[in-house]
Amino acid sequence: MSRIFSGIQPSGELHVGNYLGAVKNWALLQHEFDTIICIVDYHAITVRYDPDVLRQRRREMAISLLSAGIDPSVASLFVQSQVPEHTELAWIFNTVTPLGELERQTQFKEKAQKQESIAAGLLNYPVLQAADILLYRADKVPVGEDQVQHLELSRVIARRWNGLFGKPTGRTAEDGSEEREQFFPEPEPLLTPTRRIMGLDGQSKMSKSLNNTIGLLESPEAIWTKLRPAATDPKRIRKTDPGTPEVCNIYHLHKGFSTPSTVEHVAEQCRTAGWGCIDCKKVLAESMETEIVPIRARASELAAAPKRVDDALAAGAARCRTLARETMDAVRERMGF
Ligand code: SF4
Repeated sequence: MSRIFSGIQPSGELHVGNYLGAVKNWALLQHEFDTIICIVDYHAITVRYDPDVLRQRRREMAISLLSAGIDPSVASLFVQSQVPEHTELAWIFNTVTPLGELERQTQFKEKAQKQESIAAGLLNYPVLQAADILLYRADKVPVGEDQVQHLELSRVIARRWNGLFGKPTGRTAEDGSEEREQFFPEPEPLLTPTRRIMGLDGQSKMSKSLNNTIGLLESPEAIWTKLRPAATDPKRIRKTDPGTPEVCNIYHLHKGFSTPSTVEHVAEQCRTAGWGCIDCKKVLAESMETEIVPIRARASELAAAPKRVDDALAAGAARCRTLARETMDAVRERMGF
């Protein structure tokens, strides 16, 4: 069975953007692939943070993931810092990663622009990402279009390391050099129908740092308070103006939560000015509620039973530690340690 690896920041409760954009899909993929899902708390410390808040958000994220359909009896869910081999392999990869590749990373450039003093960890963040994936020798990584660049770097690092430290196979490569084993598979992107959910402002990707999110576990009243004023097609000023559903984030949320026939109805009503945006949002709120009710119920059950969450994370970490140690034993042997 092919193995997939996915990481998610310990950013507290899931919001609708990361649920529709990633987690809902992982809940399907876990039945098809050997699935490893990692709450990446080592990644979260590349910006200033409060340790108590980190602890709390990591917990909230674990509860959210388990409530949203990640099944610990099928997938391995764990916290990155429980498997220290991630940082060991990241250090090793730092020694084979060209600096220029890191400086070219779009996310680094964007984040570095906003900070006066840049921590080296921010630059090396994609090296740790490569270590996360390659530690488990994952074949595929479910990614959105905007993450393909990071994955490409993981492929570059795998290739470099294999070229330097893979055992000779005894065959000759196409370029005439000695062929070496592909110890680390070059992970392929699993481009799934992940949606890039925009925030309530309709301007940027939904993100807690931009304060434009709807929390997956929020009450129906709180969701409606946010949904009601949310941005729609800017050209639909009056109820009588026909709209273009494709440019409206509410339509994309319908595609995530509503049935196909409702989505069709939404598009028709929008294009013909058959209804107003508030009518459209009310239908969306109902669809969201239908999907979220069981998720919310599971989240309150898990919040009241912390041992279940601890046990799920401990089981995931135990399995991942075993896999990580196997990889690191082979890496150490090949690198002369
Ligand atoms: S009717 Fe719905 S899809 Fe059309 S612009 Fe309004 S909110 Fe968006």
